[in-house]
Amino acid sequence: MEQISDRVRRLAASATFAMAQKSGELSAQGVDVVNMSVGEPDFNTPDYIKKAAFKAIEENYSKYSPVPGYLSLRDAVVNKLKRENSLDYTPAQVLISTGAKQSLCNAVMALVNPGDEVILPSPCWVSYPEMVKLAGGVPVIVRAGIEQDFKINAAQLEAAITPKTRAVMICSPSNPTGSVYGRDELSSLAEVLERHQNVFIISDEIYEHINFIGGHESLAQFGGIRDRVAVINGVSKAYAMTGWRIGFMAGPEWLVKACNKLQGQYTSGTCSVAQKAAEAAFNGPQDDVERMRSVFQKRRDLIVSLAREIPGFEVNNPQGAFYLFPKCDYYFGKSDGKSIVRTAEDLAMYLLEVGHVATVGGTAFGSPECIRLSYATSEEKIIEAFRRIKDTLEKLR
Ligand code: PMP
Ligand code: GLU
Repeated sequence: MEQISDRVRRLAASATFAMAQKSGELSAQGVDVVNMSVGEPDFNTPDYIKKAAFKAIEENYSKYSPVPGYLSLRDAVVNKLKRENSLDYTPAQVLISTGAKQSLCNAVMALVNPGDEVILPSPCWVSYPEMVKLAGGVPVIVRAGIEQDFKINAAQLEAAITPKTRAVMICSPSNPTGSVYGRDELSSLAEVLERHQNVFIISDEIYEHINFIGGHESLAQFGGIRDRVAVINGVSKAYAMTGWRIGFMAGPEWLVKACNKLQGQYTSGTCSVAQKAAEAAFNGPQDDVERMRSVFQKRRDLIVSLAREIPGFEVNNPQGAFYLFPKCDYYFGKSDGKSIVRTAEDLAMYLLEVGHVATVGGTAFGSPECIRLSYATSEEKIIEAFRRIKDTLEKLR
């Protein structure tokens, strides 16, 4: 008998990983698929980071680490936050976790009681609403369409806050839209949040370094809300280290302590060797980060120009991350004579099965009129993907 809890039964599976798996299955059958589904840098982890991991193994970093992470890594995070973000934290205000994903989930679990509302500017990453639901909270979706570059404004935020609002989760640069909140935009959101003392801010900055406007801004820089912000970041995207699974939270000590307790029962301190590698990443030369960033920017220019040539695609000009989120409902209701495309998910499946290009339907991100393409892949593959997308979509009438 299957005895799955209601909690897990209600949980949606990750749409990003589901499409990545489908794409992988097709490739395993020998089909040449261009995979633009899952979002992870296609670069290798820089050599100086790999060397630090070899060294850690040789030096027998093989025992349990402290639950919040090695002090030397938390020091490296404190220095990074000072150096790159002009933010002051102590090591006691930093918690290392198994990816930024666990840092986010820790924060939600530690903050949200059943029935509490959590504001999610949408489109948002697929895991946010599911994390909130896991905690028994209620996701409150605040929509920002392509006409406002997928960014919410102060009036929308203000209107969504109720006495039940416990937190807001903001991601900039954004997955899935690539939109980046500038200083003035964040400042106007911070002004609203300053008036609502019971609302906590979870600021997901995992794409910090994949930024095409010259600088990253964090909500934690605004003094009036600073003690209610948890900065979430990690090494996955900036250092091409998705598989190493290191993320962190920097925030008020009471929250870090609560997450430490949770993590102590749930996962313990994360992988010792990966922590030493992450320490090297933060402390070492940062040239590789800039090298990868500028490659992403060139690819952004390429993909935006290719997408603008596709009839029925409407796109913004993403200022960060490595995603394009075209509005494509023009195709809904059209058919190639065999199957009818009714939804973004149908369109993503059609592109995969007929065009052999893997994307992700927008519904799981809160935008059923869009699909997401990750351009963390080579220029040749991006060009080939768009050749296929164009040919495949031309068959729909
Ligand atoms: N936040 C966002 C918006 C992401 O896209 C990702 C990538 N999966 C994460 C957090 C989690 O990153 P990590 O690999 O460090 O868990
Ligand atoms: N952030 C990536 C994505 O959105 C990785 C997959 C995931 O964790 O959802 O595709």
